[in-house]
Amino acid sequence: MKRGILFVVSAPAGCGKDTILEQALKRDINLHYSVSATTRAIRVGEVDGVSYHFKTREEFQQMIAENQLLEHTEYCGNFYGTPRKAVEDMLSEEKNVVLKIEIEGAANVKKMFPEAVLIFILPPSMEELSRRLHKRGTEDEETIQKRLLQARTELSRAKEYDYVIVNGELEKAVDDLAAIVSAEGFRESLNTELIDRIING
Ligand code: 5GP
Repeated sequence: MKRGILFVVSAPAGCGKDTILEQALKRDINLHYSVSATTRAIRVGEVDGVSYHFKTREEFQQMIAENQLLEHTEYCGNFYGTPRKAVEDMLSEEKNVVLKIEIEGAANVKKMFPEAVLIFILPPSMEELSRRLHKRGTEDEETIQKRLLQARTELSRAKEYDYVIVNGELEKAVDDLAAIVSAEGFRESLNTELIDRIING
């Protein structure tokens, strides 16, 4: 049975992964978003069930206990996890699924599903990342410096990924993501039935 492909996208804060994914998901490509569960507080503009499934810590612990999460992690004092059933259902319907998760989660997914395709989004330069974080104007200087330091550490883990995309110009980065999704679908290992059908007529 042909199944969808599992994609994982990670990037340090300020690299624009949310916007790239948002744009890619609007395109007519076979790419479906896995909505994570989290215990963090809902932010302005977020919608429960769309941005995240917002849970209490008790509810989240229950999900872990019932093995409902494919992976989970604690990040900045909050729990985040990927609901197993939604992902498995989509994959078995031949839908490609994308997880937008941090680096530890991505590494865990790769261990469990070596065929998962890991994509890392890079800023054009550290200077540009610093400029973007300042432009957001949502954090004070100390927090920005902390984020830049964290970004440097995270960027060094890009080597564990299968693909890297530089988010210089948004449209180009979305094109690059769409190209990866498309190319992965042509893998021989995913098309053995097609080959057999052509051979056997
Ligand atoms: P935020 O709170 O800013 O939405 O997300 C914080 C970090 O958690 C981001 O790097 C985001 O990609 C990551 N994240 C979101 N959902 C999940 C998840 O289900 N699992 C893991 N491991 N990380 C997640």
